[in-house]
Amino acid sequence: MQSIGHWIDGKSVSGTSETTAPVTNPATGAVTGELALANVADTRAAIDAATLAFATWRDTSLTRRTQVLFRFRELLNERKEELAAVITAEHGKVAADALGEVTRGLEVVEFACGIPHLLKGGFTENASTDVDIQSVRQPLGPVAIIAPFNFPAMVPMWFFPLAIGSGNTVVLKPSEKDPSAALWLARLFQEAGLPDGVFNVVQGDKVAVDELLDNPGIKAVSFVGSTPIAKYVFQRGTAAGKRVQALGGAKNHMVVLPDADLDLAADAAVNAGFGSAGERCMAISVVVAVGGVADELVGKIAERAASIVTGEGSSGADMGPLITRAHRDRVAEYIDAGENAGAEVVLDGRALTVEGAPDGFWLGPTILDGVRPTMSVYTDEIFGPVLSVVRVGTYEEAVALINANRYGNGTAIFTNDGGAARRFHHEVEVGMVGVNVPIPVPMAYYSFGGWKNSLFGDSHAHGTDGVHFFTRTKAITTRWLDPSHGGLELGFPQNN
Ligand code: NAD
Repeated sequence: MQSIGHWIDGKSVSGTSETTAPVTNPATGAVTGELALANVADTRAAIDAATLAFATWRDTSLTRRTQVLFRFRELLNERKEELAAVITAEHGKVAADALGEVTRGLEVVEFACGIPHLLKGGFTENASTDVDIQSVRQPLGPVAIIAPFNFPAMVPMWFFPLAIGSGNTVVLKPSEKDPSAALWLARLFQEAGLPDGVFNVVQGDKVAVDELLDNPGIKAVSFVGSTPIAKYVFQRGTAAGKRVQALGGAKNHMVVLPDADLDLAADAAVNAGFGSAGERCMAISVVVAVGGVADELVGKIAERAASIVTGEGSSGADMGPLITRAHRDRVAEYIDAGENAGAEVVLDGRALTVEGAPDGFWLGPTILDGVRPTMSVYTDEIFGPVLSVVRVGTYEEAVALINANRYGNGTAIFTNDGGAARRFHHEVEVGMVGVNVPIPVPMAYYSFGGWKNSLFGDSHAHGTDGVHFFTRTKAITTRWLDPSHGGLELGFPQNN
């Protein structure tokens, strides 16, 4: 069993706290690591290192900063399989899925390599006679990133390449459940030439998070996790005067109209519902079958889902385990509750076992038909391999259902009717919309973020929103004085 600690000022450190948490391989149930949970002093050590490094990093030329990002991109691309294996060992997701996560994070690094262009300000000559105005974007200082368990590499990469490229320094607090990917990334960044203290990793729980939220040394917080914690982080961080973007949970609906190709829709529902065992914030958890398509559609989805092989992530399986035993049992309880409330269990993953791995946190693909909006399996984010099918009569009912939901992260419509698709993406109250695309995660140069209880704050992740979040603008008005500008005039300056 390995000891897992922090990364502060370019060094591996174990910290001063006595508190630890076990890290588990979810496919075997075995404890593989003992994680140091930071106390306030450990968290402050990371903030101090970031504060010290900011003084020089903010003035490091854009050319130099970009060179480090390019080198980091190259190293990460060369060694992405290694990182994917680190993710699988602690998260459990299958190798191809872990590699997909790294690739989507890499796209943000590539976007950040264009930071000189993204940071360009404006210049207006002769705004008033002989007066020029320019605007510049400057970094904020040390910023914090607080990440969830489900994307231990991609979610931090949504933020830190742009934060660091913009001249900020970072303290990243990963999830306690899969802390090693962050350390791997920090070491790689150092190898790419990043100066010590620019990127720090502090392992911990609420103690570390609260210090990051309260400490005046941290100027902005990017959080991703469940809705109650996102709301808490937003409220506490903004009360301390910080910029906060807090991305929360989700309940993503996929609408299937009667004219859709049902084979393609069934493929999409299965891939988006059961990929990563449903532990994705953009997973499809509700299929909304419109008109008379439900019977045929559910049959096709069930046939495909039944062929999914669940197993250890590096074994070639399609789907891995859930993150913890407690979470696995919680998901099973939601299925029980749906069944007891009258939903039909079309495919039941509750009794699934995996040969040779009796202690893994297994739950097979599950489909519930006839789900109604009052059932807990519909109202709550389940975060497991459970697809609920809600049957509605019309397109209008489908949109009303989605718009009444408290979450608004992602949604999709499957149809061959361009007019219906256009109307859908105009009317639906959700931040990311797919037309015949079930997981519409935007590319790095667009921004990622939901509406309603899926995001607190007004900036989405990456894209220009990301650059704006990590910088503040300054407007500079310039006049080079000559004798014609003399004389007293106490009125408010006016342009001429
Ligand atoms: P979580 O909210 O339990 O934890 C997220 C982070 O908050 C972790 O770093 C954790 O240590 C910290 N934390 C937990 N409890 C805390 C507390 N009481 N006070 C302070 N900090 C606390 O989330 P999770 O289970 O790790 O991740 C799954 C959730 O994240 C799901 O709800 C999922 O939808 C959401 N998520 C959302 C997005 C998005 O883009 N909107 C992306 C990925 C995951």
